[in-house]
Amino acid sequence: MTPDLTTPWPADVTARYLTAGYATVDVGQAQEEVRVQQTFIADVSKKIRFAVCPATCSGCGEAKKVEIIKADYAAFGNRDDERALQGAKDWAQQHARDCRAMPRPQEKPTDRYLYDHDED
Ligand SMILES: [Zn+2]
Repeated sequence: MTPDLTTPWPADVTARYLTAGYATVDVGQAQEEVRVQQTFIADVSKKIRFAVCPATCSGCGEAKKVEIIKADYAAFGNRDDERALQGAKDWAQQHARDCRAMPRPQEKPTDRYLYDHDED
């Protein structure tokens, strides 16, 4: 079985790694997530911004979200998305090297067509 390299990637996939079981590990896009965290001072909370980048294996289903706390200063903040993306790529590369799981084969449309005709 060889992977179909001609099928376009989903729009939100920025990098794809092939496993030994012909599954793929897909890296998504880095996005900002804002979470409210309680501070040590009562009734005072603080918003913390994260650069978050997901990666998912289609063989075993394992998923990883790489999170980088975004810097408050713009001068340092503009590389946080890149760092999250690179972290997700590093995880995906390592996982693709180690993972032996195979994706479940999808039913082919032609199989369904033949099956429907057999019933008639
Ligand atoms: Zn896997």
